[in-house]
Amino acid sequence: MEYSIKTVGMLTSGGDAPGMNAAVRAVTRAAICNGIRVKAIYRGYKGLIDGEVAEFSSQDVSGIIQRGGTIIKSARCPEFTTPEGRKQAYDTLVREGIDALIVIGGDGTFTGGRIFAQEFNVPVIGIPATIDNDLWGTDATIGYDTSLSTIMECVDKLRDTATSHERVFLVEVMGRDAGFLTLNAAIAGGCEAAIIPERATVMEQIEDAIGNGRRKSKNSSIVLVQEHAVEGGANAVAAMIEKEHPEYSTRVTILGHLQRGGSPTASDRILASRMGVAAIQALLDEQRNVMVGVQNEEIVLVPLSKAIHQKKDIKEDKWQAMLTLSI
Ligand code: ADP
Repeated sequence: MEYSIKTVGMLTSGGDAPGMNAAVRAVTRAAICNGIRVKAIYRGYKGLIDGEVAEFSSQDVSGIIQRGGTIIKSARCPEFTTPEGRKQAYDTLVREGIDALIVIGGDGTFTGGRIFAQEFNVPVIGIPATIDNDLWGTDATIGYDTSLSTIMECVDKLRDTATSHERVFLVEVMGRDAGFLTLNAAIAGGCEAAIIPERATVMEQIEDAIGNGRRKSKNSSIVLVQEHAVEGGANAVAAMIEKEHPEYSTRVTILGHLQRGGSPTASDRILASRMGVAAIQALLDEQRNVMVGVQNEEIVLVPLSKAIHQKKDIKEDKWQAMLTLSI
């Protein structure tokens, strides 16, 4: 079989992440540079099913590297989880003459992409873009650094008001099943505790961090709570604290979608640019069904199956650093 990619389709899917635009730009320009046509598929897998496709030129991606969100939109698409939906998506590929797909997104996007690749023998390359940084095989995902900085800035602001009132602030942070954002933001923000799914030590941490702090006349406590670490999130933790310690006054802040917005940091723009170029190179090298990752500053290709199914660990030294520095 001749293996030659003439037209590549590109989509952004699932939760949006700052830096997706930089990846769209990089894929487009790297493809064009190598004589490959690029078709943007709008709204992720939904656009693939509905045939929302437009060819992109280099100019179509001008002035977007600094913009958050994604100009080709993102969506969640339940139809793509059905064989009928994926068949419709494949019909669009055939109609548009798309020979390979570059999917920019997270775990769910790669899961769908991998099934699609196997069913229809289409080469699929994944570019990891998720604020959660939960994909195995890559040290960083696009959007993570920007989101981390945003959370840190919010914590800094809360610290100003927390110190004025001697309250316990509980800040709910995104992350799906992973505590990377929460733990790293807690270290960067000098927080008193981080409640994450990987370490089930809710009240213990609270007692240590807040109790110790009080004894040492610390005048504020900020605890970061990963959204799914405790059922009910930060509100549930606040209720727990007030029940055990009615003397503490708590306040809850849910950062929500603020964490996804904003102009990507330099680090995310560079990561997205490198990964976009590497994704096109992977296709030229006849790779398929892999995710582009970065390990120790080097670009690597990781099978999609591993990226999805293996679990990335929290670094124990970071956990210990957070505990040690919160006393
Ligand atoms: P993310 O890529 O950020 O993890 P989602 O989990 O919402 O986002 O997944 C994005 C999309 O990927 C879903 O809306 C769906 O279209 C597709 N997808 C996710 N899981 C599957 C699956 N098991 N089979 C087929 N498609 C899937």
